[in-house]
Amino acid sequence: MSELSFPYPIPEYGTEPYWAACNEERLVMQRCQACGKFRWHPAPLCIYCSHSGYDWAPLSGRGRVYTWTVITHAVHPAAVARVPYVVVEVELDEQRDLRMVSNLVDCEADAIQFDAPVRVAFETHASGQKLPVFRLT
Ligand SMILES: [Zn+2]
Repeated sequence: MSELSFPYPIPEYGTEPYWAACNEERLVMQRCQACGKFRWHPAPLCIYCSHSGYDWAPLSGRGRVYTWTVITHAVHPAAVARVPYVVVEVELDEQRDLRMVSNLVDCEADAIQFDAPVRVAFETHASGQKLPVFRLT
């Protein structure tokens, strides 16, 4: 299978600003206008205080490896050319419990450690949508 068939996100359900920012190589997340906390995934209400108001606030793109796994068996035909690859959960610097799942790229699996500092980068999918990934710093 080709890279063209690899699944990619379709901006919908209020996530359009997030994906548009990715296309500008900026990482943003919803930040509650009442309590000031970031939340991930995008949601219509704050998961901490249930307030509905929010802004799309910029993030530094810096964080630390919370956990990871190395995928050695392709579970989708389009992933065959990618294995092995690393799926990482990154805890972002802005907030202790603000974590997102992504890929850790351009590193050997043996080089990954808990709490290793990472920084966001963006890869362009064949569709043209830019996707956030992380690199060790
Ligand atoms: Zn809130």
